[in-house]
Parts: sequence; C-alpha cells; structure tokens
Amino acid sequence: MDETPLCVCSELLIDGQPVAGQGALETILNPATGEAIARIAEASSEQVGHAIGAAHQAFDGWSRTTPQQRASVLLAIADSIDAQAHSLARLEALNCGKPLHLARQDDLPACADVFRFFAGAVRCQTGQLAGEYLPGYTSWVRRDPVGVVASIAPWNYPLMMAAWKIAPALAAGNTVVFKPSEHTPLSILALAPSLAEHVPPGVLNIVSGGGEGVGNLLVSDPRVRMVSLTGDIVTGQKILQAAARTLKRTHLELGGKAPVIVCDDADLEAVVQGIRTYGYYNAGQDCTAACRIYAQSGIHDRLVSALGTAVASLRFAHKRDADNELGPLISARQRDRVASFVERALGQPHIERVTGAAVHSGPGFYYQPTVLAGCRQQDEIVQREVFGPVVTVTRFDDLAQAVSWANDSEYGLASSVWSGNLDRAMQVAARLQYGCTWVNSHFLLASEMPHGGLKRSGYGKDLSSDSLQDYSVARHIMVHHGQALF
Ligand code: NAD
Repeated sequence: MDETPLCVCSELLIDGQPVAGQGALETILNPATGEAIARIAEASSEQVGHAIGAAHQAFDGWSRTTPQQRASVLLAIADSIDAQAHSLARLEALNCGKPLHLARQDDLPACADVFRFFAGAVRCQTGQLAGEYLPGYTSWVRRDPVGVVASIAPWNYPLMMAAWKIAPALAAGNTVVFKPSEHTPLSILALAPSLAEHVPPGVLNIVSGGGEGVGNLLVSDPRVRMVSLTGDIVTGQKILQAAARTLKRTHLELGGKAPVIVCDDADLEAVVQGIRTYGYYNAGQDCTAACRIYAQSGIHDRLVSALGTAVASLRFAHKRDADNELGPLISARQRDRVASFVERALGQPHIERVTGAAVHSGPGFYYQPTVLAGCRQQDEIVQREVFGPVVTVTRFDDLAQAVSWANDSEYGLASSVWSGNLDRAMQVAARLQYGCTWVNSHFLLASEMPHGGLKRSGYGKDLSSDSLQDYSVARHIMVHHGQALF
C-alpha cells in the first residue's frame, strides 16, 4: 500500500480559476473506515451563477472550434488522467472505499479511454446526405452543440461518470458546468488544476455541493440549455419537473435492476463466476449489477448451491488492499437501506437466505455479500433496485415466463441470458426490453458502444457516437438557388 501523503484538493473550477467554495462545509468520509477525510466547502449560489455565466460566455468561442481543436483538448485531458492515474485511483479508493487495485486497473484506464474515444469520434461523424429535396433548393444538416450543459453525477464511479458526461459534451462543442456527488468530489477536484491548464476558461466548470442546493440551482437557471443526470429515478423526476419550466433538454441515466436468465443448458461454472463477479462488483452499487437471477428448474438447485459457496468466498474488509474484491457501501445510510431491504425480504416465509444477509461487524459501511433464493416475481426485493451486494434467485420452468418476468420491471437498463444454445439465447436477447443484453456474459462495456436505458431507467445514451448525437442538435440549412443557369 502506498503510504505517501495524498493531497486532497478542495478548490472548485470556475471560469478557468481554482477557487475555494463559499458555501456550506461538507464532511467527506472514507466509507471503509467511517472516518472523515476532508471538509469541502460547497459552491455558494453566487458561485454557481458565476460558473453558469462563465460557461455561457465561453460557448460562443468553444462552439466555433473545429473538431480537431476540441479533440486535442480531450487528448490532453486523457494524458493528464494517465499522468495522475496513481493518485487519482488512491483518491477514488479513499473516497468510495473501493479496492485500490481495482480503481487503478478498471476505473482510471476507462476514464482516459473515454476522453480518447470522443476525441476520435468527433472527428469522423457521419450523417444524412446533402441534396436537392425541393427543386432549386439545396438542403444539408448540421449537428451543432446545444449550449451550456449542466452535468450531475452519482457517487458510484465518480471519475468515470465525470468522464462519461464531460467528454461527449465538450467534444460536441458545448460548455459544461459539472457537479459531482456531494459524497465523492475528491477525484474530479484533484483533476481540476490540469483541466484548467488544458481547457479554455469557462468551457468546463466544476462546482461541488448537494442536489437540493447546487444541483437545483443548475437545473433552474435559464442559461443552462441541457441537463445530464446519472442518478436515481426520483432525482430524474425532480429534474424533469424543474427543467420543464425552461424547456431544457434532458439526458437521464437512472437506475437498473438487471435480470439474468439462466437456462438449463447454461455453463454452470461460467454463470456462477459471472454472477460472483458482476453481481457484487463495486459492492453491487452499479446500475447494471447482475442482481435478479431467473434460473430454470433443471439448473436451479445446483446454481443456488454453487452460487452460495462462491459468494461466501468473496473477500472484503481486509487490511491488505490486494485481498479485497469489493468495498463497503458509500454511506451508513446506504448500508442501512440495503439491510432493511434484506430484512423485509427475509420476513417473507418463502424467501431463503443462502449466504450473507447481515451488516459486517467492524468499522466501515460493509454489508455481507448476500444471496437470497425462493424469491417471487412480485417481491419487493425482486422489483426494486437495492444498489448493494444482494442477488436474488427466482425459479422458472418455461422460458417465455422468464422473459415476461424479466421484462416486468420499471427498469430497462441491462440484462443477460446464459445458455449453451446460441439460437435460444439470441431469441431471448431479441425479446428483452433493456438497453443492453449480454449473452453468456454480463457487465462489460466498450467506449464505442451505447450505454443507456429504456422505461424508467431513462433515455440518454452514454458512450459511443450516439452520445455525441444526444449532446448536439440537428439543424437544417436550406439554400435557394435563384434562376437556373443552365
Ligand atoms: P442520486 O439521484 O441521489 O444523486 C445523483 C446526483 O443528483 C448527485 O450529484 C445529487 O447531488 C444530484 N441531485 C439529487 N437531487 C437533485 C435535485 N433535486 N436537483 C439536482 N440534482 C440533484 O443518486 P446517487 O445516490 O448518487 O446514485 C445512485 C443512483 O444512480 C442509483 O439509482 C443508480 O442506479 C443510479 N445510477 C445509474 C447509472 C446509469 O448509467 N443508468 C449509473 C450509475 C448510477
């Protein structure tokens, strides 16, 4: 473990300047110990207004830069992330409690890759053909930026969510005011001095603070033309209501409750390994977590037994970082929320505890990795997002029933199907109403591929060139040619 002192930056970025927040002080905790690690002053309402004003001012210049110029800024940001990867990973681990080796190996390279992807993608966009769609007139379509984008992020992958939001918005020519979660501002604030170096003043501003205060100010300001949120459904609904007053565009990435359909002919070992890894990664605080298992009768009992053993072997809360596969929940509140979901579930006579189902004794906000079997479709634990290390198993006989149960959810973000018969798996994949379906896998993302939901999971696409479309608007230019010359 690296013991060199970590520098915790607490300055916001407004109009290219690092500035101390002038709002309320927020205590930042290390969820692995419950101890305070920093006190960060939030942006005051004047500072939020200043940040929006700076973004508004900077829009004219930034929106007229070429894709090549914007790409070079994004590439410089990616290089800065790489250069500081070690300290950023340490901050991420400290602020979220996640294992450092995973933050280093998974989060940081993915953040840099997102900036690099959008640097390339913005230079090779394709679109509709220009042409004469009325005699004597030539039409073509431009894609232009929307304006000032307020980007609001959750706490589960702080820097990665920042990258997903900032990179496509800047690439498309927008200016941005970014708000991290009030629980996890440390990594993006640490990157702010490098951002100030590479991004022209006002083009990217960072203001920290709570949702009801700073977040609400961002969403209500008429100079903000678009709000991008990754967060809870209820937050999405509040933001939609506030945004409606000034008819802002919205880009919403909300929760998930991913169904995992396991057919009798699935490779049991692969399924168990997949759920053990992707049901509990980041302590299940992942909107795509493999948490809602539907197991066909022929494989059900073997799966429950093997999964129980595998999940009980997950390592956490050890002193040595390399020994940990998952971290704690982000807060005592989130841990208690998870615990109360499980308690209510076990209050049902048909639900069986296979493993876990208890708060971990010792410091930090840990909850034991949990498997619950015998769950039924209408149970709260099957229907609602727990956002913790809890996986349910529901038995099914008929594949059509499993597909119908999988789709019977207010969420529509991610899903998977596991079968040794590719025809069967593909037919199930085609019927699932989810933004993503993995076949014989789960969880993996690629910067080139769209990520986003259906139903109440929201409707914005992150990653991929689809995201560039979301952060830009199609404009029709039509030229009248006058008299025909020949
Ligand atoms: P949250 O909704 O509580 O907070 C998200 C962000 O919204 C925070 O920055 C918060 O300060 C801000 N916010 C809260 N109320 C606001 C308001 N009234 N106005 C403006 N901003 C406001 O979510 P969370 O607890 O940080 O994150 C967990 C949730 O995020 C889960 O539901 C999870 O599924 C979802 N999530 C979704 C995705 C996805 O890609 N779909 C990815 C990660 C997390």
